[in-house]
Amino acid sequence: MVRAEQVHKSYGLIEVLKGIDLEVRSGEVFVLVGPSGSGKSTFLRCINHLEKINAGRLWVDGDLVGYRQKGERLYELKDSEVARQRRDIGMVFQHFNLFPHMTALENVIEAPVQVKGESRADAKARGMALLERVGLAEKAKNYPSQLSGGQQQRVAIARALAMEPKLMLFDEPTSALDPELVGEVLDVMRGLADEGMTMIVVTHEMGFAREVGDALVFMDGGVVVESGNPREVLTNPQHERTRSFLSKVL
Ligand code: ATP
Ligand code: MG
Repeated sequence: MVRAEQVHKSYGLIEVLKGIDLEVRSGEVFVLVGPSGSGKSTFLRCINHLEKINAGRLWVDGDLVGYRQKGERLYELKDSEVARQRRDIGMVFQHFNLFPHMTALENVIEAPVQVKGESRADAKARGMALLERVGLAEKAKNYPSQLSGGQQQRVAIARALAMEPKLMLFDEPTSALDPELVGEVLDVMRGLADEGMTMIVVTHEMGFAREVGDALVFMDGGVVVESGNPREVLTNPQHERTRSFLSKVL
């Protein structure tokens, strides 16, 4: 579903991604861990072309992200083509980024109506089903300020699902939550995983990584230090940098 080949990304003179190679299979929960500043968020942003890579190649579902290849040459896609690629990728952030002036249901139906041109009636019916799925049907008319952090994050997940993505990117979705609210968000993510959604998850929740993850990559300083089955990497890390990091988060 996602393939990265020698992905490089720099900001000015600072190289943040120094040649990332990885592959995420369809239906897999792929966990990305690493210390602050190691390039995890940057890598996620490259996948939906919010950031342009400086070298290497990145594919989502067989398509080059942001470019078209003709012979040896790459041509940048038009904005409308990039937008089309992005529609298939759902993203959930640490800070839920809901529209504050819209109810939970309005947040969920906004993109289907505005971007896909779905009728409001259809979008509402699907939106209610999605809110049901994240356990929030009875909060459909609440504004974000009337929801707990965990509820807001579940609305954010429903909103991303409303576009029927084939890939979901989660960037520390529970890091901003009070500890007692983390579980309800992880439960929704676990449900999604059970239904076969392909997910890349940046998280410090090692319990989730161990139970739900199919693959885990430890990144540090813009490179993949170690990767493998989450249970194996977490139980028996091979590199000193991985061991040192895990001793701090476990
Ligand atoms: P964290 O765990 O703190 O979220 P991260 O692994 O997600 O960290 P990134 O946010 O990808 O790390 O940042 C990697 C490096 O790139 C950092 O040194 C950061 O300062 C730098 N960086 C990120 N975005 C930009 C930007 N837009 N301009 C300049 N430097 C940036
Ligand atoms: Mg980050």
